[in-house]
Amino acid sequence: MKEELDRLRSRLMEIFTYLHANPEISWHEVETTNYIVDLLTQEGFSPIRFKNSTGLYVDVGHGSPKVGLRTDIDALWQEVDGHFRANHSCGHDGHMTMAIGALLLLKEQQRSFNGTIRVIFQPAEEKGTGALAVLEEGVIDELDYLFGVHLRPVHELEDGTYCAALYHGASRLLEGEIIGEDAHAARPHLGTNAIEVGATIIEDLRTIHTDPMVPVSVKMTKFHAGGESGNIIPGNASFTIDIRAQQNNVMDDLAQGVKRVIDSSKMLHKVQIELRTVANIVAAEVDTSAQYIMEQAIIQAAGLSNLRKPVHTPGGEDFHHYAVKRPHLKTTMLGLGCGLTPGLHHPKMKFKQARLVTGVEILTRAVLLALESAHTKEASA
Ligand SMILES: [Zn+2]
Ligand SMILES: [Zn+2]
Repeated sequence: MKEELDRLRSRLMEIFTYLHANPEISWHEVETTNYIVDLLTQEGFSPIRFKNSTGLYVDVGHGSPKVGLRTDIDALWQEVDGHFRANHSCGHDGHMTMAIGALLLLKEQQRSFNGTIRVIFQPAEEKGTGALAVLEEGVIDELDYLFGVHLRPVHELEDGTYCAALYHGASRLLEGEIIGEDAHAARPHLGTNAIEVGATIIEDLRTIHTDPMVPVSVKMTKFHAGGESGNIIPGNASFTIDIRAQQNNVMDDLAQGVKRVIDSSKMLHKVQIELRTVANIVAAEVDTSAQYIMEQAIIQAAGLSNLRKPVHTPGGEDFHHYAVKRPHLKTTMLGLGCGLTPGLHHPKMKFKQARLVTGVEILTRAVLLALESAHTKEASA
């Protein structure tokens, strides 16, 4: 495998250079999709575009079992050197390069495995909704395993080290509306003061108690009430609440707590409050056998001395929707230490691109090991 990888090295760097120079934001990855479809078609693959969005998937091999590898394909919109533009500061260009590299490597090995390896190029990870769209396409249902990958900043994994699971936290963004009636500032008894309602909510959010062993956070992040006139008591307001928890069950407890706070504020102030969830990222549900396979792949490709413990990180990742929505699916994410500084989403984010080649080897070994493991289970069932 190392010799084949050496031959692929310069090709992979070309692919990365193109993808890095042509970033596209979530749900608009049109040229990115075209580029990957063209490249894979020229290489003899039969990529299939998603019916309802950007992105695609491609199969190598035939029949069951089926094992998947997923990369995200979108970039962020941010200010770089004084200008707003799309920018690959989350490393999804690197993830795509590794997924394409794994396909090129697998093509050469096709005769040596039984079953199907499906590589999924998922749109809109940064919106937190791309994975849900891919689930709707029905391309996940038949898979036994699904692997993902994310570059890690140096403070999580030093350069040249790897981990077999990423424990992202859960996060939800709630948008609320307080609906009351304005009143003259001289006659507060004739209306409701939405600012007082907001103050009650903020105060009561502190009374929500969840399992103290699991990190959580809940806070109001936006509150708008009133207009130009200072002598009107504003009856209406809009607000957002951001909630986070490192485990999905604790996130559910937290969300119920917020609902209780809102319900009691409604009663106390006699106002209507509407609350809706506008973003919902679930926490990692790592499968132990998938994690074991990824560990073996890291050891084979990079040596035991470069394997690190799983990384726990408060950031979110929509990859985990796959395991939550399809509980039969065994998932984990590879963490790739590649000297990444100053951090993910930083406009000047940079990393050592040569590590992508090791990433290709680890991911290829992981999907091949997973196929073997799925075969063994089929045989013994
Ligand atoms: Zn990101
Ligand atoms: Zn990312």
